[in-house]
Amino acid sequence: MEESTNGNFLALFHDIMTIGAIAAVVVAVLIYIIHNIRVSALSDYKQKYDYIRKNEISHYKYAFIAIAVGVTFIINTYGKGSLTFDAIWFSVRVFISVAGGTLVGYIGALVLQYYYPTKLDKKLKKWRYMPRVNAETGNRMRLLREDEEDVHLDEGMRAEEDVFSVDYDVWIDEATGHTKVEKYPGHLEALQCNNCGFFTMKVIREEIIEPATETSEGELVKHYECQYCGSIRATQFHIAKEEDYQAFKPEKLEFRKNTMVNLVKVDIHSSTGGRKSYDFQSVEQAQKFLKEFDFEKTQ
Ligand SMILES: [Zn+2]
Repeated sequence: MEESTNGNFLALFHDIMTIGAIAAVVVAVLIYIIHNIRVSALSDYKQKYDYIRKNEISHYKYAFIAIAVGVTFIINTYGKGSLTFDAIWFSVRVFISVAGGTLVGYIGALVLQYYYPTKLDKKLKKWRYMPRVNAETGNRMRLLREDEEDVHLDEGMRAEEDVFSVDYDVWIDEATGHTKVEKYPGHLEALQCNNCGFFTMKVIREEIIEPATETSEGELVKHYECQYCGSIRATQFHIAKEEDYQAFKPEKLEFRKNTMVNLVKVDIHSSTGGRKSYDFQSVEQAQKFLKEFDFEKTQ
């Protein structure tokens, strides 16, 4: 009697696991398909860019989680039909399935963290630099160079570009003079100014009020100044007990002035294994960027 109750339980358990595995895989595929349908439904390239940048990694993360759950279910059907119920064996299989699912989820997380960002970056660049079309005339627009775009940006926007917190792209329809200004995240982080609203708040001075020791946290005050309107702000931070991380400072690079240059690529490798890659349209811009550069403030 007990044998057959256990046998029924096992059969029901296997059915649930099989259905669950199929459902989990279906959910993963649906997440992937719906994400890509939403991207193609956006006709504006800038909107596509924003949607992909904001959602792609997190949506794919959910898809990987669903696959990990599916793998957990599949492992729980191992030996189905050929084995009779045994509490120890059953628990071991549950344990292995959870470990297997976790491993798959972990691999997914690693892929999204280390491999995928490069691919995503290529995809984002494609939409960012895809020639815009003026909706009113149907004319193909041209992307202005950094030195041409300034007249189309207001002073606050230029201040944001100067501290590399925001990057503006200006597209022009040369036949009509119609322009389209698009806002992109810059290479460095700056805070939004409470006074003028631009992302031009930059750290100008750091002051250690209390140094950190091996046993207690320290206190640090960062003084900010808005590079546009000049308003100032100070914020207090804790310093971690042990400072083993040495902020990466790039060696100062000397470039020769060269007007033939149309792309400067800067690859920065941190001591902790991080890598950042930046493109600049001129040597001057790259130099200015390196002066401002601080690995901890990259975004
Ligand atoms: Zn301001």
